[in-house]
Amino acid sequence: MKCKICGAELKKEGDICTNCYKAYKEEEELKKDVKEILKVKRKYSIAFEIAKNSWIFVIFILSSLICLTAGGILEELLLILILGGVLGVILFVDKRLAMATKATFYEKKVVYTFKFLFINTTKVVKYSDLKDITAFQGFTQKRFDYGDLCFYAKGTIPGTNLLNGFQIKNVENVSEILGIIKEVVGLS
Ligand SMILES: [Zn+2]
Repeated sequence: MKCKICGAELKKEGDICTNCYKAYKEEEELKKDVKEILKVKRKYSIAFEIAKNSWIFVIFILSSLICLTAGGILEELLLILILGGVLGVILFVDKRLAMATKATFYEKKVVYTFKFLFINTTKVVKYSDLKDITAFQGFTQKRFDYGDLCFYAKGTIPGTNLLNGFQIKNVENVSEILGIIKEVVGLS
């Protein structure tokens, strides 16, 4: 007799081995864990995006000066149109990314979802499988108290590739949120 799931030789009468049974039981337990404790999302802010992409304005002002000295009002209008277009695309994409990213914390697990265009990712990580959580802040993020939260998992979890966990960018009040999360998952 062999285990129907992993193919291991069975010592006792049955369909699946004790390891697979344990994994199955654990999964069933996790499914029952539906009480939401905390939700963490990627923040969308126009002010932050403009601050982060301020180089666009620098280029705009420089090119405007060149246009003005050359005396081209049409070129000036074209520049404004291009600037508006580029900013519009950046803001649109960022808003979509913010809407697409979410981590929901339950009593024993965190569920990360990312739904963007044709990408549809869900990762379920048990708190006991979490190794560490870190917050990273770039220059502009520091000014806004935003940060990127990285969740590192022990070993391999299904559907994971990068950093063996997941990441949520631009989380608001990041230091405070990190403290709350660590308490919820028992890493504090
Ligand atoms: Zn098995």
